[in-house]
Formats: sequence, C-alpha cells, structure tokens
Amino acid sequence: MDEIYPALIDYIHQYCSEFNTELEKKARNHNIGMLKWGNRENLHPKLIELRDRHISTDKNVLKLLENGFEEFKVNSATRIYKEHKNELNLNLCPKCKKIARTPNAKQCRFCFYDWH
Ligand SMILES: [Zn+2]
Repeated sequence: MDEIYPALIDYIHQYCSEFNTELEKKARNHNIGMLKWGNRENLHPKLIELRDRHISTDKNVLKLLENGFEEFKVNSATRIYKEHKNELNLNLCPKCKKIARTPNAKQCRFCFYDWH
C-alpha cells in the first residue's frame, strides 16, 4: 500500500508523533492551547502560564495552521509517511494490508479479519 488514506493519516497523527518536526510539534501544541484556553477569559494565573506555553506566536508555526488543523494533519502525516515509511510502527492487517485502529488492535476495521 503506497497510497495514503484517511485512516492511515489518523493513525500516523495519533501514534507516530515522534516523527513530527519541532515546528509541527509546536503547531500541535498551539492547536491544543487554542482549543482549551484560546477564548477563555479570567483564567487562573497557572492556566495562563500553561496556555502561554502552548500557544505560539512563531509565524512559521502559524503558517502550518493557516488552512486549519485538518489540513495540517493531512500534510504532516503525509510527509511522515513519505519520509519515514520504513521506520513507522504500522499495525497493518495481515489480510488486506490496511491500517488497524490502534497499534494493539487485532481486528481489521476494513475487511473484519481477526488475528487474535
Ligand atoms: Zn483487513
């Protein structure tokens, strides 16, 4: 399977994040910070500190997110797949070779093959 598809993008995004670049890591943190605390006012000082550790002002980070987090996810997962395909710990179905839901899953969501 050389084609990338949504389930594989999700898996790489979730389980192969050690292959993210520093900028991509900052973009992910920025997104978390915005979702959690971006629009909240009257935050406790500890939360402000936490928020400011997540939210980035680096324009290279913000550029990665300019078309939204979904597009960032597709772009970064595609890059990781292209550059590190042979190093990734992909849990592929023994039958149809598509990606399982998690690294420990033993049943295929596509063909329903079970390798328990
Ligand atoms: Zn399968």
